[in-house]
Amino acid sequence: MQVITKESLLAAQREDLRRVMDMLSLREHHARTLLIHYRWDVEKLLAVLVEKGKADLFAEAGVSVVECEDTGSPLLSSSTAMCDICMEELPGDTMTKMACGHRFCNDCWTEHFVVKINEGQSRRIRCMAHKCNAICDEAVVRSLVGKKHPDLAEKFDRFLLESYIEDNRMVKWCPSTPHCGNAIRVEDDEFCEVECSCGLQFCFSCLSEAHSPCSCMMWELWTKKCRDESETVNWITVHTKPCPKCHKPVEKNGGCNLVSCICGQAFCWLCGGATGRDHTWSRIAGHSCGRYKEDREKKTERAKRDLYRYMHYHNRYKAHTDSFKLESKLKETILEKVSISEERESRLRDFSWVTNGLYRLFRSRRVLSYSYPFAFYMFGEELFKDEMTNDEREIKQHLFEDQQQQLEANVEKLSMFLEEPFDQYTDDKVMEIRMQVINLSVIIDTLCKKMYECIENDLL
Ligand SMILES: [Zn+2]
Ligand SMILES: [Zn+2]
Ligand SMILES: [Zn+2]
Ligand SMILES: [Zn+2]
Ligand SMILES: [Zn+2]
Ligand SMILES: [Zn+2]
Ligand SMILES: [Zn+2]
Repeated sequence: MQVITKESLLAAQREDLRRVMDMLSLREHHARTLLIHYRWDVEKLLAVLVEKGKADLFAEAGVSVVECEDTGSPLLSSSTAMCDICMEELPGDTMTKMACGHRFCNDCWTEHFVVKINEGQSRRIRCMAHKCNAICDEAVVRSLVGKKHPDLAEKFDRFLLESYIEDNRMVKWCPSTPHCGNAIRVEDDEFCEVECSCGLQFCFSCLSEAHSPCSCMMWELWTKKCRDESETVNWITVHTKPCPKCHKPVEKNGGCNLVSCICGQAFCWLCGGATGRDHTWSRIAGHSCGRYKEDREKKTERAKRDLYRYMHYHNRYKAHTDSFKLESKLKETILEKVSISEERESRLRDFSWVTNGLYRLFRSRRVLSYSYPFAFYMFGEELFKDEMTNDEREIKQHLFEDQQQQLEANVEKLSMFLEEPFDQYTDDKVMEIRMQVINLSVIIDTLCKKMYECIENDLL
């Protein structure tokens, strides 16, 4: 992984362009067109070259390289020529011939470029000639546009530069707000988590916050679920029923199936139908709702179960996210304790175990919190219903929860030790905490690794 800053963007792009230009002896705009077509994947481009040859490589990307000596050069000033766009007879030095061989007057070219740049099409401005698909030489565009509209020439360059990120499969802008200006390039796996030099950790694939071990799909579903009011609505449907007369939600209190609304209407809790008040424990006078009641009850049971299940996972998820936030705030105080300790007259000098421990704590805390939505979907029915039998599901769930709980216990312990006021302790006691933190860091590393192994080998 590599962070590309505003300053290094140009150099990074140049490097790729240069490689392709040298290898295929191409001009810059042809190399760029090729690279944009292959989404700046130089290796892929080379593979196509080896496999299919130069002609096919160019044809696929729509590059037509016509060798032409006087490309982009004006004619001798003495002669005149006709511009086929504005139909004027003009001196040769006010006209420009593109690599495809088409020649038009500079005013017509400039007009054409301005329109294309404003349309956001800097990446592939084609020749004006009818049915000519050739991409115009960037140097010509730059120089002609620059003469009349220097600001637009700059925009053109910026667009070309940004194409390196926007058309590149392996490079993406950092999603920070306000934008830090950086982009991230990954090496070979586009499904990974990265950290920008601005400190933001994000999922390279979906650009949301880093969410492993959840897949992007799980994470998307989970955030939507948490956002939706639907669960609350669900709660209300489970615990209340609308009055058949005034439609206000009415809660059931007690075991009796006859409930009454504040408006005075009595109704049957099981089917929601209006009834009289005359009833016994098992039946309401003049009212029967038989089979319908069973379905209704099943549905209610089911909604209730789903809701409790979600709440179980959400509570854990939230507890860890909250701890994470608290610990991030604590970071300042803990680092403060380090500097106090370093000032002290003592034989202890090295406090890197504190920063290392904190780093482990933050990392494992994140993994833990995301492991709950992961489990919610992994062992739920929404995504993997038909992937395994109920028995398999149960075995896998136990396996995973074992890992999760071990990790959880050790993360809490680590958090506890790091919060100790070690700056006020004797050297011996600090040494003891140091040992604990170092040991726990190792255990947590192993447990995190084991949890991912469990996910990869046993669950998926
Ligand atoms: Zn013209
Ligand atoms: Zn042309
Ligand atoms: Zn950033
Ligand atoms: Zn993602
Ligand atoms: Zn009512
Ligand atoms: Zn009653
Ligand atoms: Zn009923």
